[in-house]
Amino acid sequence: MQGHSDVSIVGGGAIGLATAIELALQGVSVTVLSRNFQEAALHAAAGMLAPQAEGIAPGPMLDLCLRSRDLYPEWINKLESLTGMNAEYWPCGILAPQYEPSASKNWCDRASLDDLQPGLGEEVVGGWWFPLDGQVNNQKMAQVLRVAAEQLGVRLLEGVTVERITHTETQVTGVETTTGIYRSDRYVLATGAWSGGLLSIPVVPRKGQMLAVRAGVSPQPLQHVLFGSEIYIVPRRNGRIVIGATSENVGFVPQNTPAGVQQLLTAATRLYPPLKDWSLEQCWWGFRPTTPDELPILGLSPYENLILATGHHRNGILLTPITATLLADLICYQKIDPLLSAFHCDRFAVT
Ligand SMILES: Cc1cc2nc3c(=O)[nH]c(=O)nc-3n(C[C@H](O)[C@H](O)[C@H](O)COP(=O)(O)OP(=O)(O)OC[C@H]3O[C@@H](n4cnc5c(N)ncnc54)[C@H](O)[C@@H]3O)c2cc1C
Repeated sequence: MQGHSDVSIVGGGAIGLATAIELALQGVSVTVLSRNFQEAALHAAAGMLAPQAEGIAPGPMLDLCLRSRDLYPEWINKLESLTGMNAEYWPCGILAPQYEPSASKNWCDRASLDDLQPGLGEEVVGGWWFPLDGQVNNQKMAQVLRVAAEQLGVRLLEGVTVERITHTETQVTGVETTTGIYRSDRYVLATGAWSGGLLSIPVVPRKGQMLAVRAGVSPQPLQHVLFGSEIYIVPRRNGRIVIGATSENVGFVPQNTPAGVQQLLTAATRLYPPLKDWSLEQCWWGFRPTTPDELPILGLSPYENLILATGHHRNGILLTPITATLLADLICYQKIDPLLSAFHCDRFAVT
């Protein structure tokens, strides 16, 4: 690394921890300032790695997502080797069943879908199969990231709220927190849905309600993620089945609502009826960090020593490896990957 030996990362979610790990692997001294590990969207997510099932249009965002999906096996392997833990990465493929027929390419008829996954709802007429998409158990990944960061000597300061970023016209000079002022050579802002509170940056929360059921038979019969038009169903190998998600512009309003849970259950049992008799295990919610164009904000900022890593909206788990890799290259070697230009903050007015 040239010049800068000391980085403070604000935010201990997927993006902050993964970036801390990549920097520590390059020999950088890193401190992560995190208000609350548990409130991170990292924990709330479904863990789908779904650039193709999401139907992202060709362009920089799809390129970024595909690059990240390609990085996943090796990146997870590296973390698992470091920690001896398992993040349950599972390239299980994603099936996207539809209720309306389509003439678009790669359409699979109902019989082909039944071969891949029996038990789909009777209204399903066909769909698409994305064998390269998959999933990771994001809650396990959260533990792996944390332990890996600790093992690499990252200073994890939990329960520390950054209240203000102080700066001159060109440089960040420090972060004022509930436990004092922290200063370092460089800073990374990775505060997810809360980023708009620290910098004038258009990131707002998009609430998602989720629930999980436990398969009533063993081994559980779902072997692929089901990505419907109004619902997704993500089977874990241990029999837990994660179902999501609502998409609500309600600010930081916590809790599940009867309407939200009802919406999920109605859509899930329509798509995959067998789960209507299985046991309801848990409900939770989280806040996606969402920008006006629903694309992340990555890279350089108006301040020379502040890097932005936020706004990952509904693909932040998928985008974790590529974000951490590109930002570590930027911080350590001043290497600006051409893809980063599409996600620069100057597409918005940032002060
Ligand atoms: C319901 C739901 C389902 C999702 N499903 C998927 C999926 O299937 N696949 C996928 O790829 N993505 C999914 N996502 C999106 C993904 O979870 C997010 O994009 C990603 O977790 C964002 O990571 P982050 O590190 O930017 O933010 P977070 O994980 O939210 O972490 C932000 C951290 O910053 C801390 N923080 C905030 N403000 C401060 C402050 N002032 N001082 C100190 N610390 C602070 C918080 O405490 C938190 O720990 C989903 C999200 C939700 C909500």
